[in-house]
Amino acid sequence: MGKILDYEQMNEILDNLDSKIIKKEKPIGYTYFGYPINHYVYGHGKYHVIITAGTHSAELISNVFVIRFMEKLCNKEIVLDENLYTIHFIPIVNPEGTVIVTNAIRSLIPRNISEGEEQTYFLTFYRNCYIEGEYANKYNDKGEKLQQLMFRHASLDDIDNKNMRDYLKNLFIKNDLPVGCMINWSSNGRGVDLNSNIEDSDFIKRVSDGEEIYASLHLNNIRRDKLGPLGCPYFSKVGEIEKENEALFNFYTEIKTNYDLIGSFIYHSCGNIVYYLGGAKEANPWVNLTKDDENKNYEVAKVYADKAGYKLDGLEIYTTMDSKLKSFFPITLLIELGGVRATPLSQFMDFDLETGADNFKKVYSKIIYYNTLAITSTLPVMVKMYNKV
Ligand SMILES: [Zn+2]
Repeated sequence: MGKILDYEQMNEILDNLDSKIIKKEKPIGYTYFGYPINHYVYGHGKYHVIITAGTHSAELISNVFVIRFMEKLCNKEIVLDENLYTIHFIPIVNPEGTVIVTNAIRSLIPRNISEGEEQTYFLTFYRNCYIEGEYANKYNDKGEKLQQLMFRHASLDDIDNKNMRDYLKNLFIKNDLPVGCMINWSSNGRGVDLNSNIEDSDFIKRVSDGEEIYASLHLNNIRRDKLGPLGCPYFSKVGEIEKENEALFNFYTEIKTNYDLIGSFIYHSCGNIVYYLGGAKEANPWVNLTKDDENKNYEVAKVYADKAGYKLDGLEIYTTMDSKLKSFFPITLLIELGGVRATPLSQFMDFDLETGADNFKKVYSKIIYYNTLAITSTLPVMVKMYNKV
């Protein structure tokens, strides 16, 4: 069995977790095409924590990391005091995108593959992305991409949900989406990038002004100003919030209003970075944070970054859903898993090759091990900061 989990496999694992340890709750909401945004709870303590993954579905390692973490809690590999904490897991924030990207993966990489063979696909994908990044830099090449061509036989026909399938078939034609770009799918099923989907931002202004905006490097044949695999901030009009974001924001608000919400972890990939709230370059459109909030956020982020061996960076621009969550719920950490570029596959590489680059070694194992350690080490500090007057 390989390391990749597709949408069905993720749900199979989640459904089989010991319900005495992690309980499945009502979904926090449903997507436009009717997928549940599932919610699981560990513990019954005073201090509430929220952990989410997969806002960008191509950042598949984030889903897999959180699901493996939940599994470790169930089989007691990790011990967290269930009388102290209540941990809310939303392991698949963007189910539609996860369906699309994992369908693309399964068009090439079967479930019943050996681990060694699966690894060779990851390396090929990584190297193809790297080559295309070089070509983009050197030749400003915006043509076909090797890593997309690997998945050129991924088919929308494999998507079970008829409404989403038909919608996407139209979208591919209407917006002339590149062949094989299902593998890059970070948006939801409507083609909206959930992290860019906020009420307003400088980026949204550029899009609504009709500017042509391309993604960078090996993704530079994808437009961010049109509905598609990544980057597009709204469906049809500025200010229109997608159902996933509405559900997530309401959920955070409900927990904060009714309980002691001490913090949250939002997982993306990649970069090996933990973001705290930095000195804003522009006015925060949502809340004026106190110095105290900023300091506490920094202190918590620092502990996480130390344990994970990640860089610490200040978020300074408020153009994303995550910056909105970080502003309203200040002890929220945004974590970019894994130091190698090229989602969704490169973060699953687990070689121990003799290379000069240390960040290339045991990428997957390091992500799982150090981030598990980082969560368990950060929680007590969150409690301390919450109780600090
Ligand atoms: Zn992301």
